[in-house]
Amino acid sequence: MEQAMRDFFLFLAKNKTMTKLAKRYGLKFGASRFVAGASLDSSISAIKKLNEKGMPVTIDHLGEFVDNELEAKEMTEHCIDAIKAIAKENVNSQLSLKLTSMGLDISDDLVMANMRKIMQTAQKHNVFVTIDMEDYSRCAKTLDIFKKLKSEFDNISTVIQAYLYRSLDDVKDLNEYQPNLRLVKGAYKESSEVAFPDKTDVDENYKKLIETHLLNGNYTAIATHDDEIINYTKALVEKHSIPMDQFEFQMLYGIKVERQDQLMQEGYKMRIYVPYGNDWYGYFMRRLAERPANVMFVLKGVFGK
Ligand code: FAD
Repeated sequence: MEQAMRDFFLFLAKNKTMTKLAKRYGLKFGASRFVAGASLDSSISAIKKLNEKGMPVTIDHLGEFVDNELEAKEMTEHCIDAIKAIAKENVNSQLSLKLTSMGLDISDDLVMANMRKIMQTAQKHNVFVTIDMEDYSRCAKTLDIFKKLKSEFDNISTVIQAYLYRSLDDVKDLNEYQPNLRLVKGAYKESSEVAFPDKTDVDENYKKLIETHLLNGNYTAIATHDDEIINYTKALVEKHSIPMDQFEFQMLYGIKVERQDQLMQEGYKMRIYVPYGNDWYGYFMRRLAERPANVMFVLKGVFGK
């Protein structure tokens, strides 16, 4: 039953008509629990509050699967504006973005040109950028683009998903770039031809990725709400005397907030991924897929308490 619900929400996440409708009608159905605001302006106070607590953030202007050049240009401008706003507001924030928003599905030249514009602004304002990882069909291309950009700009990282069979090889292959990587379980619906179907295998692979990347001496962001993975990381860094400034934990805005506070109080670096914007639908559906209890929360929002 739980798997069927998960599949259902991941199916809905890709629905283009719903995505368009959602954009028009603003943050609805409890999406504001997971999305800081419909615009950067309205999200700044949430970001500042997190910073004041002692938590750095990474902001993400929501949007994905753009299929025309004009929209990709607009999304690129949004990213550039976000970088400038981070500098102007003097907030402790990085930027996360998705290559499909910058034209990945349109042409290689377009996505590279848009990314170079973003990276030049980011370099100028000393803002760090992470390329989120999307579904498997875009993984190889995303890593190729990351490698190209990493040889031109130092302030860039990307994401590796533990559910993919290929990921341990990717982490080893990327080692020559000494990259800062965000390690996650993976949020898309993938077939058993490319991804571990069982959670226990995903978790085991996740631990291998963390160990490999940290012991290779690279900066590692462990982006999870899973206590078992967090405790594994704590024990690993202690065992190998890995310095506190070689890794950080990351969690999503609005999820396991008490645990976020606790890790920070224990002295760990705890970065919050803060999404904003009116293209919230796909992101929100993936969060519902991760936890059926969230669906009850939405139903309460729709039908009243
Ligand atoms: P799970 O085993 O799914 O969850 C562990 C526990 O955390 C659950 O038992 C539950 O208590 C809690 N939990 C998890 N999710 C939720 C939720 N939605 N609502 C409430 N409680 C929850 N995925 C990508 O594919 N590409 C990316 O670029 C990417 N970037 C990410 C960046 C950050 C900072 C984070 C935290 C996640 C990112 N993800 C990304 C999502 C990730 O792949 C997982 O889908 C998501 O983090 C859930 O997995 P988990 O590691 O928390 O473990």
